[in-house]
Amino acid sequence: TKTSSSNFIRNIVSEDLSSGKVAEIVTRFPPEPNGYLHIGHAKSICLNFELADEFKGRTNLRFDDTNPVKEDVEYVESIKQDVEWLGFSWDGLFFASDYFGEMYERAVVLIRKGLAYVDDQTADQIRETRGTLTSPGQASPYRDRSVEENLDLFRRMKEGEFADGQKVLRAKIDMASPNVNLRDPVLYRVLHAHHHNTGDAWRIYPMYAYAHPLEDAIEGVTHSICTLEFEDQRPFYDWVIRECEMPWVPRQYEFARLNLTNTVMSKRKLKLLVDEKAVDGWDDPRMPTISGLRRKGYTPEAIRAFCREIGVAKSYGIVDERMLEHFIREDLKLKALRTMAVLQPLKVTITNYPEGQVEWLEAENNSENPEMGHRSIPFSREIYIERDDFMDNPPPKYFRLYPGNEVRLKHAYFIKCEEVVHDAEGHVIELRCTYDPETKSGSGFTGRKVKGTLHWVEASHAVPAQFRLYEPLITAESEEDGQSFLDHLNPDSLQVQEGFVEPGMKEAAGGDKFQLFRHGYFNVDPKDSTPERPVFNRIVSLKSSFEI
Ligand code: ATP
Ligand code: MG
Ligand code: MG
Repeated sequence: TKTSSSNFIRNIVSEDLSSGKVAEIVTRFPPEPNGYLHIGHAKSICLNFELADEFKGRTNLRFDDTNPVKEDVEYVESIKQDVEWLGFSWDGLFFASDYFGEMYERAVVLIRKGLAYVDDQTADQIRETRGTLTSPGQASPYRDRSVEENLDLFRRMKEGEFADGQKVLRAKIDMASPNVNLRDPVLYRVLHAHHHNTGDAWRIYPMYAYAHPLEDAIEGVTHSICTLEFEDQRPFYDWVIRECEMPWVPRQYEFARLNLTNTVMSKRKLKLLVDEKAVDGWDDPRMPTISGLRRKGYTPEAIRAFCREIGVAKSYGIVDERMLEHFIREDLKLKALRTMAVLQPLKVTITNYPEGQVEWLEAENNSENPEMGHRSIPFSREIYIERDDFMDNPPPKYFRLYPGNEVRLKHAYFIKCEEVVHDAEGHVIELRCTYDPETKSGSGFTGRKVKGTLHWVEASHAVPAQFRLYEPLITAESEEDGQSFLDHLNPDSLQVQEGFVEPGMKEAAGGDKFQLFRHGYFNVDPKDSTPERPVFNRIVSLKSSFEI
C-alpha cells in the first residue's frame, strides 16, 4: 500500500495563488557548478520543476557560480544533461555571474545608505570578533568609515588595487544580533581568480548569502526553495532584498535535505572519491550521482517516483536506500525483457542429445507482460549452467542439481545428472546429464514433477559477457566511526564476473535493461560494452524484504 506523501511547500504555493499574493509561480534550481549532481539534488529538481508544472508556472536553471575557484564548464554541461535526462526543461537558463554588474551596483546602494563598509581586518579577525550564540560580537575598528571613503575603497577593490584577503565589504547591521548571521556579514571579498564565465573581468566576488537573494529577485522568483541549513539566513535574505531596494520580493522556504542510508551525499566527498581514483569517475555506477545512477541503470521515471514518494518535510530524516531500489524494480518489472545469463558457468553435456543438432525453443519475454511476446533461443548437447546450481554433496532440501537428481531447464527440458567430472584438484569442471524429450516446456507433460528450475545458456551460441555487481561504497559503520571515510570504503563494492548471455543479447545497446533470470535487473554499460563482449551492470537484485 502506498502512503500519499506530504509536501508543505505545495500547500503554500497553492494558497499564494488562490489568495492572489502571486499571479504566477516562478521557481529555480540553483546548483553551484562545482561537481556533478547527486540524488539529493534530484529531490530539489523534482520539487522545483514539478511545482511549477503543476501550477503552470516557470522554473529557471540557474548556475550559482559566484565562487570561481571551484567551478568549471564540465560541471555546467553535466548539470544541464542531468536535468534534461530527468525529464525537465527549464524556462530560463541563467548564470549568477551574469548579474555581477547589478550586484556591484546594489552594494554601492548599501554603502550610500550607510549600510555597508570596507573592513581591513583579516578573515580570521572577522571570525574571532563575531561573538558566539551567548556573547555579542565586537565592532570592527573600520566600521565607522565615511560613505565617501567606503565608496572609494570599494571601487578600488573592484579595480584590483588590493591583494586577496586584504579587504572585504561588510553589511552594517547589528554586531549584537542574537542571529549571528546578522553580525555584519561579508558581502564581497577580493579574489584574483579566473572565472569560467566572466574571465578576468572581476577582482572581487560576492558572497553566496548576499548574491543568492539578489539572483532570485532579478529573475522574479516567487518561491525560493532551499534546504534547512539556510533557515537562519532567512532574515539576512530579507534584509538584502529590502535594503538593496529590489523591485521584486522573493520569499525563501526551507525543506529537509535528502539523506540516504549507506550513501555519501556531499559533492565535496564525491569529488574526493573521483580525485583519489577510488571510483571510475563521477559516473561510476557506485556513485549516488545522477550520472552514476543512470549508468547503473536507473530510469528517470524511477527517480521521479522515488522523489514523489519521500515527500517534502520540515524535519530531517534518513531514507532507506532500499526505497530507491523499490522504485526501479517497479519501473522495470513490466518493461524489461527477461532473459537468461550464466554469471559463473559450469559446462553441462547432455549425453543423449544428438551431436551437432541445434533446436530453437520458444521463450516468453516477460511472464508478467504477455504483450512483450516471445523469442527463440537455441538448445543443444552442450550448455552452461550456474556453478552455484550444482552441489556434489547437497544439504537437505537442495532442489537444484546433484548426482542422480533431475531438474527443469527453464524453457527447455528436464535433465538428470548422471556423472560429475572433476579436475586433478577435485574441482567440478563438467556435468554429464541426460535429458527426457517428453518433458519439453510447453508440451503439457505431467508424467512426473521436479522441484528445481535452472537457467542456462546454450554453449555454441553463447555470447561471452561481463557482469558487474555492486555493493555500497560506504557502510553505516564507516560513517559512524567518524574517521576519514576514504580509509573505510567497502573493498567489495565492485565484483566482476565473466560468464555468458543468450545470443540475442549481442545486439543490446548501451542503456538497454534486462531482467536476468534469478540474478536481478541489469543495464548494458554505455561505456565499456561491445557487441563482442557486452558488459552488464547490476541495477538491483530481484527481491528485497523491504516494503513501502
Ligand atoms: P552539497 O552539499 O552536496 O555540495 P550543495 O547544497 O552545496 O550540495 P548546490 O549546488 O548548492 O549543492 O545545490 C543546488 C540545490 O540542490 C540547492 O538548492 C540545494 O538546496 C539542493 N540540494 C543539495 N543537496 C540536497 C539534498 N541532499 N537534498 C535536497 N536538496 C539538496
Ligand atoms: Mg550550495
Ligand atoms: Mg556545496
